[in-house]
Amino acid sequence: MSGFVTFQVPRLLTTNSWPTTDKDASRFICTIVTASKEKQEEIREDTMQDPILQQVKQYTLKGWPKYKKDLPTEVRPYWQVRHNIYIKDDLLFADTRLLVPQKQIRCMINTVHYSRQGINFCVNKAKKAYLWPGMTKQIREVIENCNICLRFMKANNKQPITPHPIPELPWQKIGMDFAYINKTDYLVMVDYYSKFVVLHSLHKKDARSSKTHLSSPRNTR
Ligand SMILES: [Zn+2]
Repeated sequence: MSGFVTFQVPRLLTTNSWPTTDKDASRFICTIVTASKEKQEEIREDTMQDPILQQVKQYTLKGWPKYKKDLPTEVRPYWQVRHNIYIKDDLLFADTRLLVPQKQIRCMINTVHYSRQGINFCVNKAKKAYLWPGMTKQIREVIENCNICLRFMKANNKQPITPHPIPELPWQKIGMDFAYINKTDYLVMVDYYSKFVVLHSLHKKDARSSKTHLSSPRNTR
């Protein structure tokens, strides 16, 4: 599956700038529908055949009930976005997202999954362009069953935290770094043996002043 189905909207459009006229809407949609003509037609066809989206369409045209509980269960997931739903060329959109018909879900998952960049990346990408109930769970399931993604995730696994060996004597091994607190530079030293922290204020953050403290780290000033 190639990654050609994208319904992206310019970022500068906010929820307050939804197209209010048909002309606005067509300009708006032109920028988002970059899918091939055939694919658009397929999505449109599936939207028109989709029993849930057709109900959503009817509520959008005729008005939503006052209470969510008055909706059929399968339409309730769209309750939250009901005020942002609009129809263009028999496609349904909410905010910047295409309402995906059931039959096209797998294809949209393949589209966001195409670059094999992990669950969070795919979910975020999908959330920007598409809307369907249960999206996160479904994408997760596909990726968790994808050998390429699994191999990639393993390769990116963080190393487990392993404790360092404890030195035999205090100040035998120290860790050090600089810190900048309230306009003052500090040399921070930690004794690996006792975990004791020593903080020296520095007049200058250079090798010479650091060295002075290093030669006798226990003499705090
Ligand atoms: Zn994958």
